[in-house]
Amino acid sequence: MTASSEMFRSNHRAPRVDATKCKTCQRCPARQTCKLKALVQFEAHELPYIDREMCRGCLVCVEECPHRAIVVE
Ligand code: SF4
Ligand code: SF4
Repeated sequence: MTASSEMFRSNHRAPRVDATKCKTCQRCPARQTCKLKALVQFEAHELPYIDREMCRGCLVCVEECPHRAIVVE
């Protein structure tokens, strides 16, 4: 794999968790829907984050967050 294709892989359309909107739910419901386990929350009530290397940009989690805290830029 070339350096440029590696860069493309890491720059795909991954959403991010907006800390100003996230309610740090006890068990992030959006996380439950990510089959790739790319939405990470180690502890209850912790701000989750999206592992960009794992995420494939399906955007299912964007729809599942009840507070619209997962955003695409
Ligand atoms: S469901 Fe949404 S608001 Fe709740 S922890 Fe997950 S990202 Fe944050
Ligand atoms: S966009 Fe898809 S793969 Fe990425 S964190 Fe959300 S549900 Fe998981």
